[in-house]
Amino acid sequence: MIPFPAKNPGTLTGPGNNTYLFDGAEPALIDAGVGHATHIDAIAAHLGGRALVRVLVTHGHPDHASGVPALRSRWPGIEVCKWLADSDPGWRPLRDNDRVRAGDRWLSVVHTPGHAPDHVCFWQPDTRDVYCGDMMTATTTIMVPPAAGGGSLRAYLESLQRLVALQPATAWPGHGPVISRPVERIHEYLVHRAERERQVVACLDAGVIDIDAIVTSVYTETPRALWPAARLTVEALLEKLREDGRPTYA
Ligand SMILES: [Zn+2]
Repeated sequence: MIPFPAKNPGTLTGPGNNTYLFDGAEPALIDAGVGHATHIDAIAAHLGGRALVRVLVTHGHPDHASGVPALRSRWPGIEVCKWLADSDPGWRPLRDNDRVRAGDRWLSVVHTPGHAPDHVCFWQPDTRDVYCGDMMTATTTIMVPPAAGGGSLRAYLESLQRLVALQPATAWPGHGPVISRPVERIHEYLVHRAERERQVVACLDAGVIDIDAIVTSVYTETPRALWPAARLTVEALLEKLREDGRPTYA
């Protein structure tokens, strides 16, 4: 596997997205990037005239999927594989546990909704590598929006447990450096989310039920510029509490 940066650094993407090329009989790319010419030129130079056969999309967010048309215009026969979604006509729909050819290997599809409803990871069982899209990063937490934004905190936590069950040796994320101890990293995430939940429940128990008031009370060490994102996180957490059967009054 060879990493190819998507050349799209920015406030939301950090150093830019990672894409991963599996070379071999059927060259395949995990995630499409954004269609940046230097990204596609680098892949083409590596392939040296051979075609990219397949792109495996972890989820439909633009920084992972919007490069598909540019890849298609370079390699018209390319097969685009993604979790089934109504908005993607002409793409090969993936289902849980499907196996897809990447280079000379087979990867398994693991449905991991939560950050986005169509999110999948690609699992390479022989090496215990997981290509984890936006399930986790080495350095930051993951934005899990409320239902209106396609998110579900409850589903995200279940998806993290699903990755733990695989016992991956290495995780290759959509953003930032490789994660060499992914199970430990997921444990840190679960501890962090449980602590946030404990803080929000303490607010509710104290009669603080307004979302903005909860954000003000819980995110005291977070710069105000990030409070809109924190608000969405709290909204998603309140939705989870309601799904768990706890009244939130909000
Ligand atoms: Zn995303």
